[in-house]
Amino acid sequence: MSSSSESVPKVFGSNVFNDLVMRERLPKDIYKSLKKAIEGNEPLDPAIANVIANAMKDWAIEKGATHFCHWFQPMTGSTAEKHDSFISPTPQGNTIMEFSGKELYQGEPDASSFPSGGLRATFEARGYTAWDCTSPVFIKEDGDNTTLYIPSAFCSYTGHALDKKTPLLRSMDALNKQATRVIRALGNTTSSRVTATLGPEQEYFLVDKSFYEKRLDLVLAGRTLFGAPSPRGQEMEDHYFGALHERVASFMHELNVELWKLGVSAKTQHNEVSPAQYELAPVFATVNVATDHNQLVMETLRKVALRHHFVCLLHEKPFAGVNGSGKHNNWSMVTDDGINLLDPGSTPHENMIFLVMLCAVIKAVDKYAKLLRASVANSGNEHRLGANEAPPAIVSIFLGDQLSDIFNQLATGGAKSSKRGEELKLGVSTLPPLPKDYTDRNRTSPFAFTGNKFEFRMVGSTQSTAGPMFVLNTIVADILCDIADELEKAENVNVTAQNILKQIATEHKKVIYNGDNYTEQWVEDAEKRGLPNIRSTVASLETIMDNENVTAFNKHGVLTKEELHARADILLETYSMSINIEAMTMLNMAKRQILPACIRYSNILADAANAVNSAGVEASTQKELLENVCSLITVMKDNISTLESEVSKGRKITGTTEIARFSRDKIVPAMQALRKTADELEAIVDAELWPIPTYAEMLFIR
Ligand code: ADP
Ligand code: MG
Repeated sequence: MSSSSESVPKVFGSNVFNDLVMRERLPKDIYKSLKKAIEGNEPLDPAIANVIANAMKDWAIEKGATHFCHWFQPMTGSTAEKHDSFISPTPQGNTIMEFSGKELYQGEPDASSFPSGGLRATFEARGYTAWDCTSPVFIKEDGDNTTLYIPSAFCSYTGHALDKKTPLLRSMDALNKQATRVIRALGNTTSSRVTATLGPEQEYFLVDKSFYEKRLDLVLAGRTLFGAPSPRGQEMEDHYFGALHERVASFMHELNVELWKLGVSAKTQHNEVSPAQYELAPVFATVNVATDHNQLVMETLRKVALRHHFVCLLHEKPFAGVNGSGKHNNWSMVTDDGINLLDPGSTPHENMIFLVMLCAVIKAVDKYAKLLRASVANSGNEHRLGANEAPPAIVSIFLGDQLSDIFNQLATGGAKSSKRGEELKLGVSTLPPLPKDYTDRNRTSPFAFTGNKFEFRMVGSTQSTAGPMFVLNTIVADILCDIADELEKAENVNVTAQNILKQIATEHKKVIYNGDNYTEQWVEDAEKRGLPNIRSTVASLETIMDNENVTAFNKHGVLTKEELHARADILLETYSMSINIEAMTMLNMAKRQILPACIRYSNILADAANAVNSAGVEASTQKELLENVCSLITVMKDNISTLESEVSKGRKITGTTEIARFSRDKIVPAMQALRKTADELEAIVDAELWPIPTYAEMLFIR
């Protein structure tokens, strides 16, 4: 596939029912009503849905579509779709193509096989999907199949949210409401809406498909469960931003074209820190659209990789000992008239709205650090956080020099000045002086201010961005709500605002950390500061139902207590299921591939020792190797038995939390022990006999 740069504007959005298409194909008044609904000002009038549906259908059919689907995001974290064709048979025996407003508006998939966390019993099957008109409808081509996709929310018959989109949309409403109150109180009269924005950077690995197919662990668990380290890892630091390999570059090109067609603004691509690791970043969009687009990014990465005989690994830690993959969530708040509320401007100390927003985020992140941590807790991220170039599980904020200085000034009674950026002279007459940023970057921080937005870096690469983002929106809305309450009844708004800032700067200073988050020293310092460091996924998920979280979600209409509880349950269950899959996969590989290979090798050594001996030569080396291999084989057999017995003990345990704890405390250590022995064997067994591709092959051969 190739497309010259001239054709990119043509390709971009060509499969999206976007504003241009709507304007062209909808009667003016209908276009206007739809536009109002999209901008969040008014609910859509069902009466006009028929006209819109018809226009969509005509457009889709012209593009070759035969089907439509409601596309939703159940609590599995991925997406779901059920296709219906447009056909409607006539009494004459032929068919016409139909798509009604009702079909656009609402779907009724059987909800019983999606995780509900007890919100719905299996016999209560009814679920509804509802068109989310704020995220554009698009067409997707998969093989010969072309389908019209309708982004939708998903709820149960009882009205409980069964998906990731509903709470995200609710949290956007909450943030809009509270942020608007605050800016209004602070004198803004022009903006009528505040929207959360998101630019998610996606990290991923590419491995050759032929290696992948030989690794049951990659196929079933998405990560390597065995594997001795490659003699060469990422220590040369030569992969990061390195020149693209041709095969990878071709893959990226095709990926971009596919994404552009879907209106996903794929913008940045580069090699990442680990060998075989890459990153893609789109231009930011509203958090809802960006979340939908990120799902499309993950799906398209997988799909296009296969066309190039790669497999894309999205797991947080596909390979031990090298960089894991995250999904940095760049987040900000913007008004409908284009003001980025986290833009400091040139004199941030005078920019009251900015300072209040900044402090609200700081307070929210400090107060709800555990919830934010829980929003990124899954079994994969447990291997990533705190290891090889990833932020630790301690939530802290990087502000940089300029803002830290202002923040400190606020604590002592008002900010009077802003440190200025300078020019950077490179000492080469032919190079221009560069305007220097006010602040250096810090890529070790889990939550970093990066100029005019925050970057939440703890999010795992497999995760839907919806979870971490509805948490962030909600906790910021919660703090803004308190601030608005005070400002609205203030006699002197400016004095009250100053006091609020002073209080936040004093009470939440402890969450600000500009140093190196990767060091042991920071772990110790953070503990002294009283910042939570919850390394275990299970322990983190167990904090979700803390009272303050229940209260905040409830107060801002994002999740009821039942809905929150259901989510906590599903996440714990998912953790246990993932561990169980990993354990079973390890047992399978250990018993059927690795152990047999080691035994074969021991036979070879034994034969060699005998042969050498009968030739009258002392076979001491052969014997020594044989003893070594045989003793490791014995250890491995024991490791297998232990893991098997823990897995079967685990089966008898009841209670979601109890099972998850058992998985963490008993099954995971047994897995680690088995891996350790197998990896030791890998280092001494004949390479010809080793049954699975090695780290060196998977990471370096393309
Ligand atoms: P880096 O790797 O240096 O952190 P990238 O350029 O890879 O930066 O990604 C930065 C991301 O932040 C992009 O997706 C960009 O669109 C996004 N971004 C920029 N401004 C905003 C904003 N106001 N709100 C949300 N995201 C933003
Ligand atoms: Mg980044």
